[in-house]
Amino acid sequence: MTHPNLLILDDNLAGTVPSLSMDFGVFDNPRPRVDEATAATITLDHYGISGTAKPYPGERDRSFKITARSGEFMLKVGNIADHPKALEGQAAAIEWALANVPDLPLASVISTTSGNLVGRHAGHALQLTRFIDGTRPPDTKTPPALRRDVGAVVARLSQALRGFDHPALHRAFPWTLGRLPDLAPLLEYVVKERRRLVADVIRHFEQRVVPALDRLPGQAIHGDINPDNIVVDPADPERIVGLFDFGDLSWGPRVIEVAIASAYQSFGADPVAAMSQVVSAFHLIEPLQSGEIELVPDLVAARCAQSLLMSARHVATTSENVEYATGDVELMWETLTRLEGIDAHEVASRIKAACGLSRGDHRSFEDAVALRKRRLAPSLYLSYDQPVHLSTGKGVWLIDSDGRRLLDAYNNVPHVGHSHPQVVLAAAGQLRRLVTNTRYLVDGVVEYADRLAGLLPDPLSVVWFVNSGSEANDLAYRIARTLTGNRGVITTANAYHGSTAATTTMSPEEHSAVDHEPWAAQVGGSDLLKDRAAAERLPSELDKARNQLAARGEKPAMTIFDTVFSSDGIFEIPSGLLSAARKWADDTGSLLVADEVQGGFGRVGTRFWGFAADPAIPDIVTLGKPMGNGYPMAAVVTSREIADAFASKSHFFSTFAGSPVAAAAGTAVLDVVRSEGLAANAEAVGTYLKKEIRALGSPAVIDVRGPGLFVAVELPDFALATKTVNGMRRRGVLIGSTGPKGEVLKIRPPLVCNYHHIDIIVEALHESFQDP
Ligand code: PMP
Repeated sequence: MTHPNLLILDDNLAGTVPSLSMDFGVFDNPRPRVDEATAATITLDHYGISGTAKPYPGERDRSFKITARSGEFMLKVGNIADHPKALEGQAAAIEWALANVPDLPLASVISTTSGNLVGRHAGHALQLTRFIDGTRPPDTKTPPALRRDVGAVVARLSQALRGFDHPALHRAFPWTLGRLPDLAPLLEYVVKERRRLVADVIRHFEQRVVPALDRLPGQAIHGDINPDNIVVDPADPERIVGLFDFGDLSWGPRVIEVAIASAYQSFGADPVAAMSQVVSAFHLIEPLQSGEIELVPDLVAARCAQSLLMSARHVATTSENVEYATGDVELMWETLTRLEGIDAHEVASRIKAACGLSRGDHRSFEDAVALRKRRLAPSLYLSYDQPVHLSTGKGVWLIDSDGRRLLDAYNNVPHVGHSHPQVVLAAAGQLRRLVTNTRYLVDGVVEYADRLAGLLPDPLSVVWFVNSGSEANDLAYRIARTLTGNRGVITTANAYHGSTAATTTMSPEEHSAVDHEPWAAQVGGSDLLKDRAAAERLPSELDKARNQLAARGEKPAMTIFDTVFSSDGIFEIPSGLLSAARKWADDTGSLLVADEVQGGFGRVGTRFWGFAADPAIPDIVTLGKPMGNGYPMAAVVTSREIADAFASKSHFFSTFAGSPVAAAAGTAVLDVVRSEGLAANAEAVGTYLKKEIRALGSPAVIDVRGPGLFVAVELPDFALATKTVNGMRRRGVLIGSTGPKGEVLKIRPPLVCNYHHIDIIVEALHESFQDP
């Protein structure tokens, strides 16, 4: 028997049936003989829904679209030869997925009038789901945006199905892609001209792909995400609104799911571009390992081969439903031949590059340094004698371009760990949905501001979003100037508050000759903070600063303190210091600003904010660095009274600030800090770190101090601190130095740092002290 459009059957073999280990019963058994009238009767009898039935295409079952007054539905009448629990497994999977991810575009299952997810009619299993209206996407020339939506939806489905299992998923089923080699006997059905390529694919799959797949963990997969099983929004044809037909549900590695989806998205297109689009969108939501991505091209080829084999068998064994069973054959063949012409490694590396994964071909260190020197401003410098050349980060670890791990004990921006998936997903998902500014009403933004206000004591309750700590302190200064009419700003002696023109003047750590402005004055730094009587000394220091300002014709607008005094050498806030500053500010009519850019969000431990060590409440709090785990966001928080007073005299807008993406990232950070108990961890692990460093008993160590997981190790001088920092770097642990003379080691890892990581840090410190 031949099919007019196809050259898939070797005529000589028509009618012969090769022996197979795979059970083809459900394919050989005719589809249920149910007509439209019977389908309507079944729907009424079993589901109490009265409507009309129209046949819907299908491979092994018989499906009908039911139109009733209460809505539209899809009735599936199962094949008797199928696994007895196949439909039960599918219904349970849909329920499971929707319970996990309620907004997945799946058709929910309707129970029978007796409350079962699966009905029975004359030995056939029945399933009724809602019908999702939409447009079938094109088979070929799919728009890239739709391919990306396919990848995203498939990723979310993979996440939603995780943890689900059912006996029917483990049946020996010809469409299970991992079992392609079992279909080898079907090669005899394939026309000679095509047989060699299909046979090559099977052989390669058996030798190379099966062993790799066997090492990957399995999960429930839909197994057939193709344009027949998807509908898109007619008004927005690049957005999937329905995903159905769980008939091929099986157990297998998740990469098979995305590879199958990619195969159908490659029709009539450059398959590498198509795979890259689907897989990178998947990877954004459900990160894949490099080894999984490397399998994608082979799995796509395998799906094409599998489809050719199954179609050939269908044509050879029955004249029923041939159109449906062979619809994709020519497209599958075309994709397979296109793939044959491309080097598999090159394909994999292009897909990996699209996923933002290293192609394994980094620039050489020297080349990267040279390019940087040419193109980055010379005022930017690289850390360490041996600069680090990085590729990726995860948790407390950074991976360099040679694949070596470095323990990051320095960076507080990746607060909840480098590349935390929850933050990445939240921000990436929001980037896909909507990016605007504060001139529009967006729930996530106002909800985040509300959540932030809830973490701060009264009356700190009104938020401006900005993009950096510098911008936050710059705005705080504008507010103070606007409200007081004065320009003076008082900081500690070696403070750092930012890099804008205004904040540089309040950053004596970075002052150059031109940055001295008449309105900036300082109180003591490390000398004051080391003094047990710091709080008692502060008012007279502030008075002195005020007198200096007065001598230059200036009056104080604000006093600003970094609440961990990072650049002054890292200090726990001296008892009573903020209360003394509060009183002085009130007495002089100036504002008190707490710079929480370093200390905020649990770094200092369970008190959550540096300033919370003291009952005094600042007028303004500025936030930054850890807030978005690397997504640039910062904030200024103040009282209603101050915010209203500022608004009556001035206005503020910052284009990128307060975008929904920042709110999504910031919300995820707060969620992770809470769910992973990171503030308490900072306190516990930080205490352990300080104790272990003291226990080293190194004669070089003058002092070990600092709040929470912000730890200072004071050494005699800059030279030893610098040597130690470089010695640590050589041993694979990144720390920094600070303090008025650069004599203080600064240890400030992401808050996901655990006791084991601390042991690594302390061991490296021990060795570096002995052999800097
Ligand atoms: N305030 C303090 C206390 C800081 O440490 C910093 C940055 N190191 C800033 C403000 C400025 O933040 P950004 O670099 O985000 O502008």
